[in-house]
Amino acid sequence: MFEPVIGLEVHVQLDTKTKAFCGCATQFGAAANINTCPVCLGLPGSLPVLNKKIFEYAIKVALALNCTINENTKFDRKNYFYPDLPKNYQISQYDLPISENGFIAIKENKIRIKRVHIEEDAGKLIHEKEYSLVDFNRTGTPLLEIVTEPDITSALDAQEYLKELKSILEYLGVSTCDMEKGFLRCDANISLRPKGDTALGVKTEVKNMNSFKAVRQALEYETERQVAVLKDNGKIIQETRLWDEKKQCTISMRSKEEAQDYRYFPDPDLPLFTISKESIESAKKVLPQLPIEKRKRFISEFNLSEYDAGIIVSSLRMSNYFEECLNFLQEPKKIANWLIGSVSEELNKRCLDIAQIKLKPEDLVGLIKLVESNTINNLTAKQVLTFMLDTDKTAQEIIKEKNLAQISDEESLKRIAQEVIDSNQKSVDDFKSGKENALMFLVGQVMRATKGKANPKIVRTILENLIKET
Ligand code: ADP
Ligand code: MG
Ligand code: ZN
Repeated sequence: MFEPVIGLEVHVQLDTKTKAFCGCATQFGAAANINTCPVCLGLPGSLPVLNKKIFEYAIKVALALNCTINENTKFDRKNYFYPDLPKNYQISQYDLPISENGFIAIKENKIRIKRVHIEEDAGKLIHEKEYSLVDFNRTGTPLLEIVTEPDITSALDAQEYLKELKSILEYLGVSTCDMEKGFLRCDANISLRPKGDTALGVKTEVKNMNSFKAVRQALEYETERQVAVLKDNGKIIQETRLWDEKKQCTISMRSKEEAQDYRYFPDPDLPLFTISKESIESAKKVLPQLPIEKRKRFISEFNLSEYDAGIIVSSLRMSNYFEECLNFLQEPKKIANWLIGSVSEELNKRCLDIAQIKLKPEDLVGLIKLVESNTINNLTAKQVLTFMLDTDKTAQEIIKEKNLAQISDEESLKRIAQEVIDSNQKSVDDFKSGKENALMFLVGQVMRATKGKANPKIVRTILENLIKET
């Protein structure tokens, strides 16, 4: 029996207005190469000046990840040649990163954080058929690299860790974590070892996953691939592999033998920085409530299940929306159900975040109240929600316009129920002889005749009574 051992390296783009060491804008999607200057193009004689915001953000992250913050921190040059790196070195941090030795708690597990350091991003290469283009707009944008110890023992736990890390970063407001734009990227290291062993096996590093799901799938694939090699008495080669999303497999990219020596040395253009106790203390004071605390609060204050709290809290915007809804209706469980169920479903369909829709918390509550008062049933409410998202009208308006109000008036329901009974004698007999399902069928027929607008509970009672009378 083998068990996977996983360590993750996450790069996250810090949400600053300007780049790490110059005044160029970090604006995404700008025309190629317009946000550049002598510093981020690496022209001779230019000098980097650190963007203060980066330390502020890095300190917040370090605190939230329970790390120690190094009093003295410095920048080093990581030397390599690549067309998207005009200086031929990347400014990074080597032996004095801004912070080290933290952890993220996920349920009973503590995933240790080895280090959090600051570095600059490279440019972007765009490969065309016969040539490649380079866009230097991204060179010099600030990143944090967050590296775990090899503490993760399954692909699923890796995904959980990433979700929690992303939530934390969003709560701190240091990054938008937009994965489609490449603002959060993950390299996954994985090795196997016989269950119970403590020594680490030879690892591979998997790159090129652009979603958390892809990270999980790549790690599941790597686990199986490595198990097969080891069971066959083969050896794992230390190498970098790429995840192929289409083929759902990893492919060897380069082995460690070809690995470069980066010749790190302190960047002579940047001084040793000292982080004062005061700046750490003042950062502590403005630290927001983090997901782990908010989950606890939602469970104790609103009586949510761990599962519900987990889903709602994982998104800062969803959790804020939830609390806003509570101002209009003190039914946490019901609101949670709506948010996790139909609302999330609609958001997923539309590829939208809750912050991107116009549906106001009070209007969602308005819809929920109409279900509570039996004006519409759950099924209709789902339809109404779709219309609300499409049109920005309130539930009331839509129900009136589309004549969707539930038919609760007994007389009309009785008439329809009698018609259904008359034309389904067999089911009536079946029900009389004890087949409960037959009644469900009859209820279904009435629902159909009313286009789903009847109140199923009332229909059921009416049918039972009518059948008893015959
Ligand atoms: P490298 O020098 O190859 O980048 P590091 O020691 O910096 O390796 O570790 C990079 C990441 O790989 C870390 O997240 C670490 O926890 C993880 N890691 C290191 N060794 C192993 C191993 N044998 N199996 C799985 N993960 C590992
Ligand atoms: Mg590495
Ligand atoms: Zn610049």
